[in-house]
Amino acid sequence: MAATDSGWPLAGFDLARANTLALPGHAALYAEITSADQLARFVSERSPGSLRRFVLGGGSNLVLSGDFDGLVLHMAIGGHELAGEDDEAWYVRAGAGESWHDFVGWTLTQGWPGLENLSLIPGTVGAAPIQNIGAYGLEVAERFHSLTACDMDSGEFVRFDRAACRFGYRDSVFKQEGWHLDGRFVITDVTFLLPKAWQALAGYAEIAAELAAQSIASADARQIAAAVVAVRRRKLPDPAQIPNAGSFFHNPVVDVATAGRLRAAYPALPCYPQADGRCKLAAGWLIEQAGWKGKALGPVSMYEKQALVMINRGGATGADVRALMQAVQRDVMDKFAVALTPEPIFL
Ligand code: NAP
Repeated sequence: MAATDSGWPLAGFDLARANTLALPGHAALYAEITSADQLARFVSERSPGSLRRFVLGGGSNLVLSGDFDGLVLHMAIGGHELAGEDDEAWYVRAGAGESWHDFVGWTLTQGWPGLENLSLIPGTVGAAPIQNIGAYGLEVAERFHSLTACDMDSGEFVRFDRAACRFGYRDSVFKQEGWHLDGRFVITDVTFLLPKAWQALAGYAEIAAELAAQSIASADARQIAAAVVAVRRRKLPDPAQIPNAGSFFHNPVVDVATAGRLRAAYPALPCYPQADGRCKLAAGWLIEQAGWKGKALGPVSMYEKQALVMINRGGATGADVRALMQAVQRDVMDKFAVALTPEPIFL
């Protein structure tokens, strides 16, 4: 059982089931937070003070190095609602602990399109803005309205609008300032803006091919969601069966000269021009060409159907994950002179 309003956090909590890579480790202290009020009381009454803090959502973007000697706050604030509506948009709010995929499904069943491309991304609503999740041509920043976060230093609730979040590619102020690591601001709810003037985003080759295979010429939002789910299920391992943390590396963005050099040497290299003139490369392609697709190092390997995903084949530790990460980084650097940076958080 998790901590209650009146009880102290739990001591020595086993985190193996709280991270989707199923890595072993214990938290010195652990508390499950189910409401903003509980979080506020927790800050004022329990005054965690100088204790190291880590805010855990779905644990789907986490590499556990072993035992954590601080306090893990597991965000389990649920609930979702229509917060408002005008001629332009629906405004939809959800608790930080809601499952992201379930929330997307709920908006679609309500008839409010806009988040369909982000179906089946693992994790929670509260984690979505932190790394500005994105897929198949849509980033959450484009549907974001605002969020509420508790300032753990003062216990006050602060509203962040889109500008305050400083979104970038898989990036936000929470990462830029390191707040996702030190737990300074704990997100309690997020509000999304779903424009009524909806347009299908079905340009990514895999989604277009999936819709074409089903003879869907002009897809609605639910059909796009179904196509995204089908593509992701085919390519990506289900953490319940094969522990993993989704894409393990960022897709690197390189300058034009580097892209030109690589394209000359490797004409098949996928290379996507960015608004700022640089080029985004597919990390999975680089990893595959470096020989790591489906290849293991100890109990971990790069997944055979999608080289960007690292999987735990059983009994892996955080050290095994780091060893494979470094081997892949080294070989991609040796072959392409491109640096890969990991996407998950290391605790
Ligand atoms: P993918 O579709 O094989 O794409 C690989 C790379 O090529 C990505 O960098 C992707 O950009 C880019 N790309 C492909 N088609 C493109 C197009 N038509 N226009 C511009 N760029 C294009 O990637 P995947 O690994 O199988 O993942 C599928 C989708 O899920 C991708 O969009 C990926 O970014 C996303 N994803 C997101 C997260 C997350 O938010 N944490 C985690 C895993 C995967 P983009 O990355 O900009 O799409």
